[in-house]
Formats: sequence, C-alpha cells, structure tokens
Amino acid sequence: MIIQQDMDLMKKLTILSDAAKYDAACTSSGVDKKNNGAGLGNAKACGICHSFSADGRCISLLKILFTNECIYNCRYCVNRSSNDVLRATFTPEEVYRLTIEFYRRNYIEGLFLSSGIIVSPDETMKRLTETVMLLRTKYHFGGYIHLKGIPGASQSLIETAGWYADRMSVNLELPTADGLKTLAPHKSRKNILTPMRQLQRGIHASQLALGIQEPSHGLLSENAPVQTGLSHGTGVLSASGYQPPQRSLQRQQPRFVPAGQSTQMIIGATKETDYHIVTVAEALYHNYDLKRVFYSAFVNVNHDEALPAQPDGKGVPLLREHRLYQADWLMRFYGFHSGELLSEEKPNFNVLLDPKCDWAIRHLEQFPVEINRADYYTLLRVPGIGVRSAQRIVKARRSARLDFKDIKKMGVVLKRALYFITCSGRTLYPIRMNEDFITNRIIGVEALNRYQIEHHDSYRQLSLFDDFHMDTPSSDK
Ligand code: SF4
Repeated sequence: MIIQQDMDLMKKLTILSDAAKYDAACTSSGVDKKNNGAGLGNAKACGICHSFSADGRCISLLKILFTNECIYNCRYCVNRSSNDVLRATFTPEEVYRLTIEFYRRNYIEGLFLSSGIIVSPDETMKRLTETVMLLRTKYHFGGYIHLKGIPGASQSLIETAGWYADRMSVNLELPTADGLKTLAPHKSRKNILTPMRQLQRGIHASQLALGIQEPSHGLLSENAPVQTGLSHGTGVLSASGYQPPQRSLQRQQPRFVPAGQSTQMIIGATKETDYHIVTVAEALYHNYDLKRVFYSAFVNVNHDEALPAQPDGKGVPLLREHRLYQADWLMRFYGFHSGELLSEEKPNFNVLLDPKCDWAIRHLEQFPVEINRADYYTLLRVPGIGVRSAQRIVKARRSARLDFKDIKKMGVVLKRALYFITCSGRTLYPIRMNEDFITNRIIGVEALNRYQIEHHDSYRQLSLFDDFHMDTPSSDK
C-alpha cells in the first residue's frame, strides 16, 4: 500500500474522486470522460455525480471518498487492501474546504461522501460524522449531503450522522449473503441490514414527530396517487417518489435523514439472475422503505480470478443494468410486482426488449387496450404510455373521443404502443396479435435504443470541469 503523507489537496482530490467513481448510488455510473478544458480542469479528474434532491430536482454533487485506504479486501474493489494503489485520506477540514470552494463557484450543489474502512468501521463513521457536523454546524453549509453509513459502525454514530445528512445509504454490495461471503468476507448481511433498519426507524420517528405522513413504501399501490408533481398533503409526489417539504421545516426543526435512504448492488459479479435481483430490490423497498436501489454493472477492475471475466470482452454490461433500472421504475411507479416481470421459469430480462414490452408481449391476452375506456392503471401497463401521457389521456377523454393523432400529441410513443391499443375500436395498422410478429417489429425500434445505451457516454464519471448537461437514461414508458 502506498500512502503519501504530504500530499497537496488537489492531488488528494484527484485520487479520492477517482476512487469514488465506482459507487453508483447517485446517477453517474463510473466511466471516465476525457477532459478538454484548460486550466484547473485539464489535469484533474474531480468527480461530480448527479443525484435527485428531496424536491425532485436533479443536482450536481461533489462525489468523493473520505479515504481510499481500507482494511478490507473485497475482491471486486479497486481500493481493496491487497491492491498496490496510491492512497490518500482527507481531513474533515479539507472536505469542508473543497465543498465550500466548489459550492461558491457554483460547480456543485452538494456533497456525496463515501469512504473505505480506515482503522475500523467506528473510526471511519466517526470521521465521516465529524465532517458533516463541521460542515453543518461550524460553517453552516446548507447544501445537500449524501453520506454513506458504514456497516458495523456503532448505532450512536449512525444516529448522529443522520441528523446532519440529507440522505444516507448503506450499500448492500451483492444481492445475496452467499455472494458477500465469497467476495466480501469481512462484510455480512446482518451488518448491512442493521444500520438500514436503524435509519428506517429513525426516519419514521422523525416524520412522526413532525406530523409528516409518507407512504410506507415507494411502490405504487392501487389507491396511491401517482401523478407526478401532485400536491400531496404537506409535500409533493414527484417522479422520484413522495417528497415532503423540507428546507423551511428543517430549518426550524431538525429532521433525521430527510431525503431518505438508498442502497446499491453490484450486478454481474455473482451468478444471481435478474429475477433474484428484482425480488431483493422489491423486498428492500417494502421492508426498509428505501427511496432508491441503485444497480451498478460489475467492472472487473482487479482481474481477479474469483470474478467473472467481462463477458466476451464486451465491456461493462450496461444494457443489463439499464433493464434492471427500467424494471425498478416499473415496480416503483407503474404498479408492477417482481413476480409479474420475471419468474423462476423466466429468470432474466430479454436484453433486446425493455421489460414493459417484454411483459406485454408475454401477456397478449390483455391487449389491445381501448384508449377511450381503459382505466388509468391499465393504460400505465401499455408500452409507450408513461405516467404523464396516461394522465393526459384520462383527462382529455372526458371531453372528447381520442384518436391516434391526439394521443401522439400527448406524448404516447406510438411506435411501441400501436401493437397494444385501439382508438374507438380500431388499430392504427392491421396488426397480427402474435408474439413473434410484435417482438420482431419492436426489436427493430429497440436496436436503436440499445445502441444508444451501449455507446452513449452518459454512463460516466463527470469532471468538475465538464459541462453538466448529462442525460439520464429514459425508462418511464
Ligand atoms: S470495504 Fe470493500 S468495497 Fe469498501 S472500500 Fe473497502 S475493499 Fe472497497
């Protein structure tokens, strides 16, 4: 292990923002993008990730590790103790200086702070907690803070941190306990789920004390309002879930982890099927009230023989990751259950089709759906119809019968939807309700999307000096 004692701050920033890029628990997923800027940005790979704040806005965060030193040796991790990499550790004051300097320059709106395990889980959590306390209490930093909870750290440290961070996340790391045993033997499922449960209880208690009501989980139920931007009591239900009002309230009364908790799983390092993964995610949403589960496509950075080689030299399986995000979206906002999307008999998504199309083609007996009559939840299940277009359809048809031209204007993606709908009893073209026929037609459309996912550089670690206009993968229709 190479540890440099007298490292300047920018050098540390270079190492520790680069080391953080494999953490997917905000929207970027860790691929470098070359800098073309002059001056400071030209030499530094300082990470900015995009995340969603409690009011649903996409915000830029300074994404760094507190340290990339680590006493553990997780086989998939570039920072594992057996790797001979340059190591660095910030002090809380240094994190403060960087955050404030970038914040003042308008590069960022907040901080995403994770860490390797230095000395012990308690010592690590203590330093992270000191850092956020310093930012909040001494320097009155009001920006967004996403902080990692360290498995195995004492409850009192997690509790303290939760009063200063906006969001916290404890990484599940791998979908199963067996996977953890094999690849991250220092971690255990119990050590991970314990702080998750603690955060869940703290969040509920805090909401209760403030009289804030939130749905017990993020999944869409039959009676839950699903309209994006809908005013809901004291808060707003947006595309990222129910978001209570925070800042003004928080200023008067502190709130525990007001933006909720999330987690991350590495996909493809172990042999779990997609069915297994979405089932685990669904259970986490139900049982721990997570705001988000992030899926991070496995990258074999260590060329470790215990880990799968990158399939066929094709690089990171981003398409699988993308399908899981789409399925996750369907479970959270479209009322799908994991058991509808996949099963033991069909355990993996067809990477050639998005999960909603895949489901619809396997359930042709439920189609075509009549646009002028189908209820809102049925409309949501039609490929090419998203939350907004379903809402518009329901509203507009109160005053007039709708045809294909009308619904196209409302945002329906007809090239997908046309196989599954009728307007006043008519299809757009003569359609054969046949699985093979529809699959072949849709795969033509999907091929373009696939290409864009595999080649688009939105899956990347942003630099502080790039422009910030990163697209997020579309998955809501
Ligand atoms: S605990 Fe494991 S995953 Fe986290 S930094 Fe250490 S080696 Fe990497």
